[in-house]
Amino acid sequence: MTSALELQPAVTARAPAKVNLELGVGPRRDDGYHDLATVYQAVGLHDDVTAAPADEWGCTVTGRDAGSVPTDEGNLALVAARLLAERSGARQPVHLSIHKQIPVAGGMAGGSADAAAALVACQELWSVAMERDELDRLAAEVGSDVPFLLHGGTAVGSGRGELVTPVLAQGTYHWVFVPVPGEGLSTPEVYAAFDARHEGRRVSEPTPGAEVMSAVRSGDPSALAAALSNDLQPDAVALQPRIGEIIGAALEFGALAAIVSGSGPTVAALASGQEAAIDLAVSLTASGAAEDVLRATGPVHGAQVLPTPRLT
Ligand code: ATP
Repeated sequence: MTSALELQPAVTARAPAKVNLELGVGPRRDDGYHDLATVYQAVGLHDDVTAAPADEWGCTVTGRDAGSVPTDEGNLALVAARLLAERSGARQPVHLSIHKQIPVAGGMAGGSADAAAALVACQELWSVAMERDELDRLAAEVGSDVPFLLHGGTAVGSGRGELVTPVLAQGTYHWVFVPVPGEGLSTPEVYAAFDARHEGRRVSEPTPGAEVMSAVRSGDPSALAAALSNDLQPDAVALQPRIGEIIGAALEFGALAAIVSGSGPTVAALASGQEAAIDLAVSLTASGAAEDVLRATGPVHGAQVLPTPRLT
């Protein structure tokens, strides 16, 4: 006999990775977080999360770096789904199947992307009507980057990154991402190195730079290249010197600019266009400077439900 659970179709949502075009880090706050002034861009590397009605909560992970992603209650997608269930009164457990394309612990917010995708998939599955502001607040409880990954596009992030304001952006930017082989970097480890480097010095409140804003408004990749910045870069490079070598190689092979993505270690190299991005990706791998490269364009949409395939 077919159970009621099996009759309910599963819902799949897709969420993008992010790169920080600018990451300004302020002093450490009393709650342990840092005030940030960041400009996010969502890029076309995606994780897919399928939410299916189940007898108990659970998740499975496939795809890139799947083995290093927790499948217990520490998985951010599961944390997000359970929080939405609690707040909305939806009591039906789900099983989440996560398919990863975003490098894990790479500074591209893959875990937060899974949380954002889980929220929109479960919202659809459970028919939860929730105001956007309320969903944003719930997302922020799961992680600082989750609200941005619901929105996508290009946006300023303030507070600890969770307060998102969309910015006017033009054009399509061509990125080559180089995942650094090895363990990845833990975000708290990189912030601890930032704090140690600034010990005894005054760290000023960060403000989003006018230069990045006008660059993304112009749609000119050279202008954006000149404006990219990341206050955590010295710390990520000090922790993993290989990052510095990869940045050097990307510049040598024609990138307009290359920076650490978020807290790293992934290197984000900006190319002048599609052809240049292909050339850069080929040079980096053929020379042996990189073992692996991922090409993507931005900006792209935030988390959204994928159409259900029609059964004929
Ligand atoms: P961020 O830039 O948001 O700090 P990141 O991109 O460096 O994060 P993530 O891929 O989000 O790193 O993973 C950070 C850690 O979160 C991982 O080491 C993993 O243990 C944990 N984690 C929990 N849920 C997930 C998930 N669904 N996907 C990936 N990692 C997850």
